[in-house]
Amino acid sequence: MLIDAHSHLDRYDLLGEGLLESALEEIVQHRIFTISNSMDFPAYRRNLEIGEMCDLVLPTFGVHPWNAPQYAHRLNDLSEAVEQSPMIGEIGLDFFFVKDGSEYPDQRKVFEFFLAAASEQGKIVTLHTKGAEEAVLESLDRYDIPRAIVHWYSGPMDIFRELVARGVTFTVGVEVLYSEHIQAIAQEIPSRQLLTETDNPGGPKGFIGGPGMPILVRDVVQALGELRKTTVEVITQTVQSNLIDLIQDDPWLVDTNARVLGEQLIWGERIV
Ligand SMILES: [Zn+2]
Repeated sequence: MLIDAHSHLDRYDLLGEGLLESALEEIVQHRIFTISNSMDFPAYRRNLEIGEMCDLVLPTFGVHPWNAPQYAHRLNDLSEAVEQSPMIGEIGLDFFFVKDGSEYPDQRKVFEFFLAAASEQGKIVTLHTKGAEEAVLESLDRYDIPRAIVHWYSGPMDIFRELVARGVTFTVGVEVLYSEHIQAIAQEIPSRQLLTETDNPGGPKGFIGGPGMPILVRDVVQALGELRKTTVEVITQTVQSNLIDLIQDDPWLVDTNARVLGEQLIWGERIV
């Protein structure tokens, strides 16, 4: 089984008729367990529907930093969805793509609301850190968040190493095929902290010229195998085991854990 630990399946609807159906077919055909992150309420509603369509999809709720200003003054409205979501994402800070500093207080307000809830409810968080890596690290220290997935880390190496020491898990995506900086990071992530992602459908667009499809995660696995001087099989197995380690004792993810382990039993890749 392949793992796409960071995708936005709801966004296929915006990009073309039938695209979501094709993506789900690929997910099923290649057995790609997919965490479908939400950037706002409508995204979460759609991801919940998509989760109903496919057992290999885990929908999660979050408000992306780009959307924070819309939600900063109605945080209580978010509580129910936060409570319902078994994992939290995508949340975080973005001081790179968001140039307007007047939005940063709203970003922090929304991010910290989610961190407080995740800490209280003992949930895994998926983090966007672009241009705000140090601020995200500081926030993680202020809230008690033992399990965090840092998505598409591309920041400075010193903060990267602090995040490694803190025990976060990193999702490496398609940029590993193109960027030396990402390759350096991908080589240095400890084996037990490595996951794979696509950030589909929008994330890969700048590299491949169109919406990313789920099977792209196989190219990521291949690249990681070459960079880390090992085989595709070892990377695949490592990433699967890491996902299981991350979720196996999580009371919010009992059902997901059973599905992931079930997949592995079907494919005979792990004896439990
Ligand atoms: Zn994303």
